Amino acid sequence: MALIVQKYGGSSVADAESIKRVAKRIVDARRAGHDVVVAVSAMGDTTDNLLDLAAQVAPIPAPRELDMLLSSGERISMALLAMAIHSMGFEARSFSGMQAGMVTDATYGAARIVDVTPTRLRGALDDGAIVIVAGFQGFNRDTQDITTLGRGGSDTTAVALAAGLNADVCEIYSDVDGIFTADPRVVPNARKLTTVTAEEMLELAANGAKVLYIRAVEFARRHGVMIHARSSFSSGPGTYVLGPGMSAPEQQEGEEMEEPIVTGIATDLSQAKITVIGVPDVPGKAAEIFKIVAKSGANVDMIVQNVSAAGTGRTDISFTLPKTDAATAMRALASEQPEVGFESLVHDDQIGKLSVVGAGMRTHSGVSATLFEALSTANVNIEMISTSEIRISVVVRGDELAEAARMVHTAYGLDGDTEAVVYAGTGR
Ligand code: ASP
Ligand code: MG
Repeated sequence: MALIVQKYGGSSVADAESIKRVAKRIVDARRAGHDVVVAVSAMGDTTDNLLDLAAQVAPIPAPRELDMLLSSGERISMALLAMAIHSMGFEARSFSGMQAGMVTDATYGAARIVDVTPTRLRGALDDGAIVIVAGFQGFNRDTQDITTLGRGGSDTTAVALAAGLNADVCEIYSDVDGIFTADPRVVPNARKLTTVTAEEMLELAANGAKVLYIRAVEFARRHGVMIHARSSFSSGPGTYVLGPGMSAPEQQEGEEMEEPIVTGIATDLSQAKITVIGVPDVPGKAAEIFKIVAKSGANVDMIVQNVSAAGTGRTDISFTLPKTDAATAMRALASEQPEVGFESLVHDDQIGKLSVVGAGMRTHSGVSATLFEALSTANVNIEMISTSEIRISVVVRGDELAEAARMVHTAYGLDGDTEAVVYAGTGR
C-alpha cells in the first residue's frame, strides 16, 4: 500500500466521457489499496478560452482578477471528477489550491510554491477519501489572494503535493506514453524511454520538450520526488524521471542501466532571433545591449558574436529569445540605438532549435561531430551553436527543423521499430 499522487492534464479530462474514464483509473488505484491524491488540470482548452474572454473585456487584464478567473478552470474539473468518483461508490473530496494549503509567493500569473500545508488533505485521506486538488493554483499568505503558477502549472502542483505528503511516486498523466527520444509528432519512430535522469529531463524540457514542465522537474529533483510520466489513454508503464540515488521500481536491485551517450532530442519552434548589426567592437557594448534586453523583460537563450569584419571595427551580435518577448526587446533596443551606436536591427522568427541531450556526453568524445555530420548530410545550415555539459544545441531554419531532427535521431541510433502513439495530440 502506497501513497500515490496522480496528475491528469487537460486533454485527459477534456469532456464528460474522459472525466469518467479518469475517475475509473483513479478508483482502480484505490481498489488496489493505495491512498490516492489527484491534481487535475482544467478541461481541454478551458484556460485558453478564459484567456481569450479576458482579452475581450480588457486589453491588459488586471493580474489579480486574471488569476481569479483562470483558477476557476481547475475548480470545474476537480468537482466533476469528484462527482464521477462518488457515483462509482467511492468517497472523494475536492479542494481548491488554497484549501489544499498550496502556499505561494505573491506573483500573479507565475507564482512559485513556497510551502505546502496539506492538513485538510491528510484529514480526508485518514477518512478514507480519494483527494482531488485543483492544479495550477495556490494562495499568498500576505495578500490572502489566489495565485496561479504559470501555464502547465498543474505538473508543479502534483510534484509539490507529492513532496508535501511524502508520496511514494508522482504519476503525471498526459496523452503520450511517456518521455520519448524525440517529440513523436516530429520524429514518428521515436522510442519511449524507460528512465531518464532529472538533469537530462531538465535540459529536454528547457529546450522544447513539452511532456513535463521544467519547474515541476526542478521541484522534484530538489525535493526527491520520483516522477512517473505516463499516458491516461493506455495502461503500460511510462517513463521514470530519476533524481540522484533513485531507481525505477521495475529496475532490478543493483541493475545498472547502460548510460546511453545521447538520451534524446528536443525541438523548439518558439524562439526568434535578433541580430544587432554593426556594433562598435569595444569593451562594454555587449553589456549595454544585454542590459537593455534584460530590462525589457526578455529571457535571452543563445548568443553569438561574430569576429569584427576587417578594418570596420564593428561586429554583429545575434541572440535568441522567446518569440513572445521579441517585439518588446526590439522596441527597447531601437530606442537606445543612438547611445549604443549600432547600425541596425534584424528580427527573424523563422528559426528552429534542435538540442541533443545525454548525460553520457560528459565522458564521450565525438558527440558533436555526429551531430554536425548528420546536419551536413541533410544539407541543413547551422546558424548558431551552444553547449552545456550534457547538451548541444543548434539553431537552423524553422522549416528544416523536423527533417533535421529525424536525421539526427537516426544518426545517434535512437530510432525505434514502431511508430509512437499520440492519443489526443496535445502532449498534455
Ligand atoms: N490549465 C493550466 C494550463 O492550461 C494549467 C495546466 O494545464 O497545467 O496551463
Ligand atoms: Mg491545460
